[in-house]
Amino acid sequence: MPLREALFRTLVEPVSCDVDYPPFDRSVMDGYAVRAADVASAPVQLKLVGRIAAGAMPQKKLSSGQTMQINTGAPLPAGADAVVRLEDTQLSSDATHLMFQQSVPPGHFITRRGTYVSAGQTVLAAGTRLTPLEIAVAATAGAASVTVYRQPRVAVLATGDELIDIDQTPRGAEIRNSNQYLLEALIRGTHAEPLVLGVARDHPETTRTKIAEGLEADVLCITGGVSVGEFDFVPKALAALGACVHIHKMMIKPGRPTLFATMPSGTLVFALPGNPVSAFVGFELFVRPSLAALEGRCGIVPRPVGAKLRGALSASADRRSYWPARVQADPDGDLHAEALAWHGSGDPFGLATANAMIMRPPNSPAATTGERVSVLLLDRV
Ligand code: AMP
Ligand code: MG
Repeated sequence: MPLREALFRTLVEPVSCDVDYPPFDRSVMDGYAVRAADVASAPVQLKLVGRIAAGAMPQKKLSSGQTMQINTGAPLPAGADAVVRLEDTQLSSDATHLMFQQSVPPGHFITRRGTYVSAGQTVLAAGTRLTPLEIAVAATAGAASVTVYRQPRVAVLATGDELIDIDQTPRGAEIRNSNQYLLEALIRGTHAEPLVLGVARDHPETTRTKIAEGLEADVLCITGGVSVGEFDFVPKALAALGACVHIHKMMIKPGRPTLFATMPSGTLVFALPGNPVSAFVGFELFVRPSLAALEGRCGIVPRPVGAKLRGALSASADRRSYWPARVQADPDGDLHAEALAWHGSGDPFGLATANAMIMRPPNSPAATTGERVSVLLLDRV
């Protein structure tokens, strides 16, 4: 596709530069092109024989005893091998000569053709995601169009009899379907293409029909209905549709009921628990890395980094646990992690400013300010 449409896509084929870069010997400064040998015996006066602006090729060769005015980025004239900054010269009163007070070594303030890359050299490897910076590199390399992976299509299905849409006021046991919005936004944030399927009510056939709709997507994210309760129909519906279940139940908190399956259609299914924080944690740990892998970016797993705890954490369960947290670097570059006020995995409000998750091993004791903890930094865009 055209380069300008390929922002955040991932390269299938590498990009190489079609020419030496820079394509000619050029000046780094506004100044005067000289032969270094001529100014070796500075102070010395050289005759001004021309001017080279960026975009113009010098027409004349520079001979001994001569100098030419040259602008930043302009091509060096043949014969010259150095540039002296404008500030280090004096123009004679009749504007015909330049006085040089100091000598400069050959190569001074010039960038030789091919210094950055040679023609044919790979500048972006296959599997690279095109952020604005890679777009700049591809543009410089002359890649007006690039070969990229298509965006994965990711279906989102919420389950639950309790769910109402967000423009409604909960009555009785109703809960707003925030997960649909969370997941759609997370998917958009990864630059995949969301397909919102709406809500499957807690009923075996409805659940199966809705899941079947999601099988045209590359990935299906389901929230809720995956536990072992009487009204949790997702595992049975998946089985009825021929799922190969690779994982059901994990030793993580939140997220114990998490299920991962592949379908005969090739669709990857992630069934995450319904609590908003569980759904979020599951997306970050499993769905985001899988979406990257589908686009050829493998091993994009959240990696733990060390941080100092600010505030207190209670002892953790017998499962690896994840707490939404705010991590900030102090001026020395040390990271500090503050666990956000949070009333458990049903409480989405603590997520609002989270930029990390504190990750604790099973059976960790209570911890207080200053203790070292592991955090997973979140990609918030
Ligand atoms: P479940 O995993 O189906 O047992 O759901 C657990 C809890 O998560 C439910 O009781 C709801 O409070 C909450 N929940 C489930 N689905 C959603 C949703 N789509 N949006 C917000 N909260 C949800
Ligand atoms: Mg449910």
